[in-house]
Amino acid sequence: MFKALLLEEKDGKVSASIKSLEESALPEGDVTVAVEFSTLNYKDGLVLGGLGRLVRKYPHVGGVDFVGTVESSSHPSWKAGDKVMLNGWRVGELHWGGYAEKARVKGDWLIPLPKGLTPERAMAIGTAGYASMLGIIALEMHGLKPDKGEVLVTGAAGGVGSVAVAVLAKLGYKVVASTGRAETHDYLKSLGAAEIIDRASIATPSGKPLDSERWAGCVDAVGGSTLANVLANLKYGCGAAACGLAGGTKLETTVIPFLLRGVNLLGIDTVMCPMERRKEAWARLARDLPADKIDAMIQKATLADLPKLGADILAGKVRGRVVVDVRK
Ligand code: NAP
Repeated sequence: MFKALLLEEKDGKVSASIKSLEESALPEGDVTVAVEFSTLNYKDGLVLGGLGRLVRKYPHVGGVDFVGTVESSSHPSWKAGDKVMLNGWRVGELHWGGYAEKARVKGDWLIPLPKGLTPERAMAIGTAGYASMLGIIALEMHGLKPDKGEVLVTGAAGGVGSVAVAVLAKLGYKVVASTGRAETHDYLKSLGAAEIIDRASIATPSGKPLDSERWAGCVDAVGGSTLANVLANLKYGCGAAACGLAGGTKLETTVIPFLLRGVNLLGIDTVMCPMERRKEAWARLARDLPADKIDAMIQKATLADLPKLGADILAGKVRGRVVVDVRK
């Protein structure tokens, strides 16, 4: 038997409760993992609330990320005792995920716990942090360097934003953090933000196709009109990594910033990201995200805390990253 936060649907309403399940309830897969930690991403909040049509079949176990120890495996890459991690591949949406003491998945989806990260810190980074790193790598591939100027991080006090601020600061960038929460200013400074701006100040485009050239790059967790505003304020040849949609999905802009300033809009996907790029991103996170900064982002939780935290993350109330000890 193992413990899981089970999502069930009745009359179109999704409810969550902790249940004890037989191992035979686990889905198909060639590796069974004893899960230790999981985390909470924005998408997990949607799944916990039964939103976004992400889950097609109930009962369901959410949790886009997990870390744990292989219990049994018929996959050639893994054997009992291996420390492994999983991010994405639609685990936690189409497949049962990490909000349980056991998970059964395809061995092709697992990666080794990155060298230099503890299981807890790996989940403090989770998909949100890995999205940030993919964003930073994409910006670097398009020429971002610390001497190019200020880099903007939107949704800075959230998961994607917190990791982006800390990594960019460690790499020597002048980081401008945009947040809607005044109470997070000290936190953002402690992560390395050089300047903090109110998110309202960049929430609406001016209406002009081009504005002043301010940003050398942007890791954007917000999308919507904020991203449209950022595009008009990028310096010549610079880019924005579109990581999220916390502020909206609709992007109303013109082609002028692309045509007259050669700016780049870089799409970031964590879910189906090829293995090589995943491993590169995690190796970079282990190297470029200082352990004390990861620890400063952590809010500890148990499976029982998740329904409330799921609602909180959708309301933009979670600061930093939640680490869920599924064994408690
Ligand atoms: P999160 O912790 O909730 O962070 C989002 C932040 O956005 C909030 O903390 C808040 O920051 C800001 N925000 C919230 N509502 C807003 C609004 N209405 N207008 C403007 N800003 C708002 O969530 P997360 O896990 O970091 O995820 C952030 C986004 O990235 C989500 O949309 C998520 O789906 C996406 N994401 C995408 C991928 C991918 O594969 N591309 C992977 C992971 C996450 P402040 O309080 O500081 O303003």
